[in-house]
Amino acid sequence: MLAYLVCLGVMAGSVLLVALTSYLVNVTENDGSVLNLTNLQLSLTSIIYYQDAETGEYEEYQRLDGSENRIWVDLEDIPQHVLDAYIAVEDKDFYDHHGVDIVGTVAAMVNEYTPIKLFSSKRGASTITQQLVKNLTMDNDGSGIDGAFRKLREIYRAFVLEKQYTKDEILEAYLNTLRLSHNWAGVQAGANNYFGKDVSELTIAEAASIAGITKNPSVYNPYSYPENNLERRNDILFFMHEQGKITTEQYEAALAEELVLNQDIRSKSFVNSYFTDMVIDRVISDLMDQYNMTLGEATEYLYNDGLKIYSTVNPTLQSAMESVMRNEPNANGKTLFPIKENTYTNPSTGEKITQTPQAAMVSVDYNGGIAAVVGGLGEKTEDRVLNRAVDSLRQTGSTMKPIGAYGPALEYDYIHYSTALFDDYVKEIDDEKNPGQKKQWPRNYNPGYSMTQVPVVDAIAKSLNTIAVRSLAMMGVETSYDFLVNSVGISSLSERDKDLGPLALGSMTEGISPLEMAAAYAIFGNGGKYIEPYCYTTVEDSSGEVILEKKIVSVQALSADTAYIMNRALKTVLQYGTGAGLAPKRLDAVGKTGTTSDNKDHWFIGVTPYYSTATWWGYDNPAELSVNYTTHPPTTAWRNVMNIAQADLPSKSFPVSKSVQVFNYCPITGNIANANCPDQKPGYYKSSTIESGFVPVCQAH
Ligand SMILES: [Zn+2]
Repeated sequence: MLAYLVCLGVMAGSVLLVALTSYLVNVTENDGSVLNLTNLQLSLTSIIYYQDAETGEYEEYQRLDGSENRIWVDLEDIPQHVLDAYIAVEDKDFYDHHGVDIVGTVAAMVNEYTPIKLFSSKRGASTITQQLVKNLTMDNDGSGIDGAFRKLREIYRAFVLEKQYTKDEILEAYLNTLRLSHNWAGVQAGANNYFGKDVSELTIAEAASIAGITKNPSVYNPYSYPENNLERRNDILFFMHEQGKITTEQYEAALAEELVLNQDIRSKSFVNSYFTDMVIDRVISDLMDQYNMTLGEATEYLYNDGLKIYSTVNPTLQSAMESVMRNEPNANGKTLFPIKENTYTNPSTGEKITQTPQAAMVSVDYNGGIAAVVGGLGEKTEDRVLNRAVDSLRQTGSTMKPIGAYGPALEYDYIHYSTALFDDYVKEIDDEKNPGQKKQWPRNYNPGYSMTQVPVVDAIAKSLNTIAVRSLAMMGVETSYDFLVNSVGISSLSERDKDLGPLALGSMTEGISPLEMAAAYAIFGNGGKYIEPYCYTTVEDSSGEVILEKKIVSVQALSADTAYIMNRALKTVLQYGTGAGLAPKRLDAVGKTGTTSDNKDHWFIGVTPYYSTATWWGYDNPAELSVNYTTHPPTTAWRNVMNIAQADLPSKSFPVSKSVQVFNYCPITGNIANANCPDQKPGYYKSSTIESGFVPVCQAH
């Protein structure tokens, strides 16, 4: 009986072993090229291109993993103390094991999968060979059972590597691929960038500093966290001394050495623009979607496979935007966006937090391409940080009126350019500040109601909330909601937003991103066509084969007539409305200001014959921020950017819809003016609305 059980156990064990082996052989089947150490030097740089508007040629915008980032260095050119620093902290038995530290690995797995903590150590549990496998395969899948299988694959691959290559080859590959901060990889790039010298010139202390980063490049990044790096450097020096790699004199001298970093490199070219960050994010996520890659695989592929990314950036506009949004003080010490501090209390910790205002700006061109983006105020110091232009949803205030109320109401003939509507409150609602009492709604930005008929165009210029709400009410919220969601690509509205406040005055539940606002407003500059925005058109692999291609999604959101009429109406904002005096030089421009009723969000969306641009300003944690409308920061920032970016562009006008008829309108009745009407200004009308008698001639004067 016992023999039978043993026999059964052995059989079951054998089956498991065979299954496991066959699993490992299968999943590592395509490792050949990935784990080929002799090919490593050939790892290719991916490049982002832009199209030169004048020549139509594609030019280089940025190299993603250029020679600055990974610089190959042969093992014999790396000083012994650099090798010693890594071996001492990461894998002191490197020359003795066969790829795997069995005791360390078992202990690490027990630590991870059981509540028992066997021993903790500042030394890593995976060997240099295992870490090399990780760097080459980017096989970083999850925790739990996935994590256990990942560990098994890694162990198997480490054994395979050790059988195929010498210790020196493995060490050389490791030292050239290990990850550092800022997308830097390898000890030569580390020496060049952190210390401004060749790897052969590194001191013992500097070698230990770089060796300390690899364990966790963000935590031990010596620029961001010098104290973390210094502590780890000193641990590594201790191990080197303990293992007899350095003498006591060397140890003490190195401990006393200050951490002196190369300062000019970080502040210059090594921080990606918000545009580059966005391209990286989009390409990685599209690769994951279309090719079923993991995040690690897509990232590795993007950085190292020589991809050619044809982007939509306009470098002139991008750098103009960056320079304005850096918000540097002028000669009088004043910044364009005032730096007003605000303090709030974190509700969960009770901690007091002080914040300064943030801002974002993004432009799309009339092919739908994102031409420039800046997702924060001030100098950008890190890669892949929050891009407020794309990822922050904010209430849109009055910038909502043209797309949520006036545009579709004009399109469907509920109103015309100068329909006169009554400037008075629309309804009474509960006053949440005074329970049991009612208040009049909506309020205008400047309190009170004129109790007169105001033509729609004048209400747009002055941003009267009452008239926007009446226009929307005439059309109905369903039509507006459908227009926003299905015609101009607003993706963050919910059923709860089907109401007058959200759709006319921008007090929606979640808010809208600046990018979606810029793309929606493009309809007022290009004859009514909405195009879903994108930041690249195609991506080719190193052999020139197209691996990603953007499908252009476009909708004729408004007729060319309505788009032109709205364009003319929005021009009054910069002529005599809330943006008066802030129009850019040279080329025509239209736009709309926006402020939420609680003063927490400030917007300007500006449209020129070249670009539709959204600018937002406010606190990350929404708080009141007062604004001066004569120097309205978002509008002024947009104007300054356009003045730089459009200075040398060929003259260009907005498309004109020839079937739109122009008559002066009467500012009192909103009808077509007769000779006696006062203060006449031009009005723009669809032929059909004139013919149908929708816009009669004024009889009052
Ligand atoms: Zn009149």
